[in-house]
Amino acid sequence: MTESWDVVIVGGAVMGASSAYWLTRLSPGLRVLVVEMDPTYARSATALSVASVRQQFSNPVNVAVSRFGVAFIRDFQQALGHDVGIASLGLKENGYLFLTGDASGRARLERLAAMQRDEGAATEVLTPEQITARFPWLSVEDVTAGAFGPRDEGWFDNMGLLNGFRAAARAQGAEFLKDRVTGLEKQAGRVTGVTLASGRRVSAGAVINAAGTRGAEVMRMLGEHLPVEPRKRTVFLIDAPNARHPDGPLLIDHTGFYMRPEHGQWIIATVPNDDAAVDPEDFTPDADQFDEIIWPLVYARAPGFDAVKVQRYWVGHYDYNTLDQNAVVGRWPGFENLYLLNGFSGHGLQQSPAMGRGIAELILHGAYQSLDLGALGAERLMTNTPFLEEAIV
Ligand SMILES: Cc1cc2nc3c(=O)[nH]c(=O)nc-3n(C[C@H](O)[C@H](O)[C@H](O)COP(=O)(O)OP(=O)(O)OC[C@H]3O[C@@H](n4cnc5c(N)ncnc54)[C@H](O)[C@@H]3O)c2cc1C
Repeated sequence: MTESWDVVIVGGAVMGASSAYWLTRLSPGLRVLVVEMDPTYARSATALSVASVRQQFSNPVNVAVSRFGVAFIRDFQQALGHDVGIASLGLKENGYLFLTGDASGRARLERLAAMQRDEGAATEVLTPEQITARFPWLSVEDVTAGAFGPRDEGWFDNMGLLNGFRAAARAQGAEFLKDRVTGLEKQAGRVTGVTLASGRRVSAGAVINAAGTRGAEVMRMLGEHLPVEPRKRTVFLIDAPNARHPDGPLLIDHTGFYMRPEHGQWIIATVPNDDAAVDPEDFTPDADQFDEIIWPLVYARAPGFDAVKVQRYWVGHYDYNTLDQNAVVGRWPGFENLYLLNGFSGHGLQQSPAMGRGIAELILHGAYQSLDLGALGAERLMTNTPFLEEAIV
């Protein structure tokens, strides 16, 4: 006999788990199945993330999404409404510091900061002298201005967020199944069920694609095209004994790298010059990036990085939306009951509380109730109309 579920979610990392949590919170008794092929999450972006949250986006929708995200993350246990043994996600609010070296850069940062403050953020634009006063270990000769968020920005426990969502979703009745979705069945503009690698078939009232870097692969099962591809990021953990600044910000440097403190050390990465789609199974690190690109840049920014030791490095994949580097969220045109949570392009972890809530509202009520995510809908892909997020790290 075919099992029947109200909602089947493909992928059980942070987006799938958040959706399952919100669906069962907003509609107790709803039958929700999450299918996850690798419950270790070893290769999920969620686990390989740099786990940071910011308010400094170029798009007001993304600022609002992150404002909800940081509030949820800060008071996690209370927001979740369950004691699942994760009292806190350890949010460290050191702020983001975006630097610019352009003559016109200051005006751009001022314009963005004004928009972010309208949304409730606290972004300040600093002169090079003010940056030095706050972070005397940075060298700012080439800097014309910096945008700094003194609150609501920093980093937190990514796996705590995922595990909290999973545990709370389970407590509310959602089920997580270890299996791989290998096919989607359709009939008359509806997805009717999913087939699994185990040979099982389950029927579904609605399906959510939360398959991360494999989101496009899931759409191909229906003959649909989603312009989201895996892009490789190699992240380095380094020790810099002459530059231990645990109160340092998450620095986004216009010369081409970002870094943040991590327990007395630093996490540091760059965007590769030849940033192209990779195989979702390709986790070979681009280890040369550190010596060839990152170290000269960071040493120029802060002389304390004269002696550094790479402790370890890892590869994660962005689920990169090639149209506009923004999330694709909502119902997929042409299908009554197929929903997407894809294309987060490197900023999905912090967005997961708002995105899971939004998709649950859309499925349960047919419309967003709390925060309008309509601008992130898939319709823009059909008309090739970008809804750009410029502040991509
Ligand atoms: C290096 C790096 C740094 C990042 N830094 C940040 C940051 O600082 N802040 C931030 O907000 N975001 C950051 N991100 C982005 C963030 O991690 C992702 O946007 C977010 O985790 C996406 O979550 P997801 O659940 O959609 O996808 P994933 O975490 O990739 O999970 C997808 C899941 O779907 C499963 N799956 C796929 N196909 C199938 C199938 N057919 N059947 C069953 N299961 C399937 C996979 O096994 C996987 O567990 C970063 C990402 C990377 C790679």
